[in-house]
Amino acid sequence: MAVKVGVIGLGNMGGGMAATLAGKGFEVLGFDLAASAREAAAARGVQPVAEQAAVIGAVDVLILSLPKAEHVEAVCQGILAQGRAGLVVVDTTTSTPDTSRRMAAALAAQGIGFIDAPVSGGPKGAASGTMAMVIGAADEHLATALPVLEAMSGTRVHVGAVGAGNVAKIANNLLAAAHLISTAEAVSLAAQAGVAPEKLLEGINAGSGRSAASQVMFPTWVMNKAYDSGFSMGLMRKDVGLAASLAQSLDADLPLAREVARLWQASAETLADGDDFCCIVQRTDAQLFGRGE
Ligand code: NAD
Repeated sequence: MAVKVGVIGLGNMGGGMAATLAGKGFEVLGFDLAASAREAAAARGVQPVAEQAAVIGAVDVLILSLPKAEHVEAVCQGILAQGRAGLVVVDTTTSTPDTSRRMAAALAAQGIGFIDAPVSGGPKGAASGTMAMVIGAADEHLATALPVLEAMSGTRVHVGAVGAGNVAKIANNLLAAAHLISTAEAVSLAAQAGVAPEKLLEGINAGSGRSAASQVMFPTWVMNKAYDSGFSMGLMRKDVGLAASLAQSLDADLPLAREVARLWQASAETLADGDDFCCIVQRTDAQLFGRGE
């Protein structure tokens, strides 16, 4: 029997995931609170549904792609009310490990599986089925969802039990947030010392200082001043905040992580939630990285 898939949250990431699955032959029902997101998904082969309950009750695997943990908790209340035993929920939201574990426990009481599978790769990766997933899951639930996960991602790492996916994603995004700032400082320093940014990045990318910031973010979204990655400042500030909260809850003494969190939170004074997350580099060197407006 063909697997029927639902996607709740059809934004930058969820819209691309739903379109990828529809393009690979899955029957995909999609729900978003925003009518505009439902319409955009319909144009990409997804069956738009105006009521969340109609998706939850009709599918075998349910993908969530929501902004924050609080949205996941709200949607899971609906899944508790309308979901049937055997359903597996795959939460791709960058959420908290604690939320994932609590939702999994509540849903397990009704025979519903819950996996946390946060993603990397941006809207482009979602739309091309090449995302990387870090997965927290029980083996049996992962086995049920695997054909769907394989269709929507290029790499999957099963890092542990439920909650482990979000631990790994939070650690990953802490690094990405730090690398953006440290790479901006390196590029600015070299520019002041007379080395052109493009040449510096070429050198770094051939050397040991490279990262996704120097290899992807700077060439694709910063140096051309496009700032159009499809990942917002508000969502990255959320992720850095999640790292700070996790460190605090474990009483972990991480001075660099603390400073990264302070810099990202302070950026709220000059950068709006809707700005591109790469705009963080502008605080390091407004002349070099600003749009000059
Ligand atoms: P987005 O804001 O573009 O999309 C979120 C969508 O969820 C919106 O369309 C919104 O209307 C919808 N929504 C909110 N509450 C809802 C509810 N209760 N029911 C139904 N729909 C609801 O966000 P995004 O960029 O797609 O990010 C989604 C998640 O993926 C976030 O947790 C983000 O941190 C993570 N993420 C994003 C990127 C990226 O590059 N954009 C990359 C990796 C991970």
